[in-house]
Amino acid sequence: MKIGRWLIAGAVVAVVIWKADDIIGTDKQQSAAPPAVTESASASSSAGSGDSSTNDGTESPEPSATPTSEHASPSSSGDAASSGSPAATPEASEKPSNAADESEDSGDSDSLSALLQLNAPDKTIEVGKNGVATVTNPESMLVLVNKKRELSSTYAPDDLVKPDVEFSFSGDSPKQKMRKTAASALEKLFAGAQKDGITLKAVSGYRSYATQKSIFSRNADLKGEEVANRTSARPGQSEHQTGLAMDVSSASANYELEPKFGDTKEGKWLAAHCAEYGFIIRFLNGEEDVTGYSYEPWHVRYVGKEAAKQIMKQGVTLEAYLEAAANGATKA
Ligand SMILES: [Zn+2]
Repeated sequence: MKIGRWLIAGAVVAVVIWKADDIIGTDKQQSAAPPAVTESASASSSAGSGDSSTNDGTESPEPSATPTSEHASPSSSGDAASSGSPAATPEASEKPSNAADESEDSGDSDSLSALLQLNAPDKTIEVGKNGVATVTNPESMLVLVNKKRELSSTYAPDDLVKPDVEFSFSGDSPKQKMRKTAASALEKLFAGAQKDGITLKAVSGYRSYATQKSIFSRNADLKGEEVANRTSARPGQSEHQTGLAMDVSSASANYELEPKFGDTKEGKWLAAHCAEYGFIIRFLNGEEDVTGYSYEPWHVRYVGKEAAKQIMKQGVTLEAYLEAAANGATKA
């Protein structure tokens, strides 16, 4: 079967091109140290509390309407944000030498091209009898998840860890987690921001299928299914289930997940620099027809540095980028 062949080819490439393993995300080498903390689909309900209205079903505080908050001084809310200390602890952020980490998806454009071919949208989808299209490469850093391409209800990453960054809330929650490579990259991103005087806080990362399901159901109960479908992701259709996405906000946006974050200096810094760390702004302004979601300047998605730089430089969606790459239009 075709897909099987691609999977095998993918595994071979991943082994051969060791340094590029973070792009394809097969990551097998890195999961040698098993995360004691894997959240399975049972991660459940509690994480979803208080969530609301953002497109990807994220869990912003209440759908508060605070139109003027973007100009609020950082010190006015959450003073932790104004502390001068680095966002991430030294342990995590000052260790650039982790070769196996996310850092070196070096400039080998041939390997990226190969990975892009392997992860081409039309080669990474399987349509079931029920008509649902499920992605076949959920572990890839280039996996494409959207309303037309679902993750299996049983998929949960096996290398989830809690990045050592500041969060907008206290206490422990499964939504603090990301896959190991993405978590490490997020630590570097936040540390890099801090160096530029920008304090970011993480709001919501991993979300299990079960959690997403409960969020969607609640929204459907509250607002009706049609509205819920516009304002939150159906289970399986949220990128948060990949463990590669994190919602990020700042004191200046009251840690809300609202488009106004894009207008803050933190939001602008994030858009300008996230690619250096392997992240993209996944839901671009004006690309709703392509992504299925409206502008979300707070939602960053890890794809690996080289792909991220190309995507952000070209100003395209992940959908368009992968499609173009598959058609041979992207030569690095
Ligand atoms: Zn999000």
